[in-house]
Amino acid sequence: MALPTTFCPDLVGCLSQGAAGNPTVAMVEAAFHHHGINARYINMEVNPAQLADAIKGLRATGFRGFNLSMPHKVTVIPLLDGLGESAAVIGAVNCVVRRGDRLIGENTDGKGFLRSLLDLTEPKGKTVVLFGAGGAARAVAVELALAGVERFILVNRTPERGRLLLDTLVGQLHCQAELSPWAGDFSLPRETDIVINGTSVGLYDAAARLPLDPETFRPGQIVADVVFSPPATRLLRDATARGCQTLDGLSMLVNQGVLGVQYWTGVLPDAAIMQEALARAMSS
Ligand code: NDP
Repeated sequence: MALPTTFCPDLVGCLSQGAAGNPTVAMVEAAFHHHGINARYINMEVNPAQLADAIKGLRATGFRGFNLSMPHKVTVIPLLDGLGESAAVIGAVNCVVRRGDRLIGENTDGKGFLRSLLDLTEPKGKTVVLFGAGGAARAVAVELALAGVERFILVNRTPERGRLLLDTLVGQLHCQAELSPWAGDFSLPRETDIVINGTSVGLYDAAARLPLDPETFRPGQIVADVVFSPPATRLLRDATARGCQTLDGLSMLVNQGVLGVQYWTGVLPDAAIMQEALARAMSS
């Protein structure tokens, strides 16, 4: 009699600090269940001093891949065997994929954003105003540059960090980009097609206001926020009131989960199933 072969699921997961609060497990496991994939996603609490040992362990136990969240997105890089194109330019990895015996670092933050944006518009040839220059903003900017955005107007509280992103866009990706000063409320230039909040302003604070003059929104403009909790940020509420189309941070989060499942299993999962599971997990 043949032995059963289904008692050993494929393993994926996430290494982070604050792992217990990470709801990604709910949406990824909902996708596994919906598509009949025999796999588990495990949240793992790992302190920075033990990251190398943790990754050795994941190699030894045959993990198909894993996500990285704060504070491991940059320090993981020397522990991997290679990087995808955009992860190399961004300089951060949030999704590792085992290809043969090699662990390859990808960045799905910006790719998840791009997938969401493509539901509304084609970024090629567009003018983008991007607030922020941290990890999320860098990932979004690099992916939009690779997708053919015509011009970036960067706005960041700390000019030095803004300049680093400017150097990446102009020096490495040969884009048209400029860094604008941010003193008081920012006025959007008339030619702006897409506005993106890539800062953490609004995270866990529905009343927090990004310093931006709402009178400069134009109907039909696309306004997006990377902040996913709460998803209806003040920026998006103000933009909706002025006739803009909006994109919330939850759709970016879901789409980077979609890409993770696809990388690890080869199956393109149903995003709606994952979105429902994530919304349930975040409201419980
Ligand atoms: P970082 O710490 O790397 O960057 C934070 C950015 O926010 C910097 O540009 C910082 O500016 C800016 N910022 C912070 N506070 C203020 C403020 N009061 N006024 C103006 N600018 C401010 O964080 P991340 O890039 O990793 O995360 C940013 C946001 O993106 C978080 O809310 C995170 O939850 C969200 N995120 C969402 C994802 C999704 O899938 N939806 C995925 C990843 C992140 P400065 O340089 O001056 O400090």
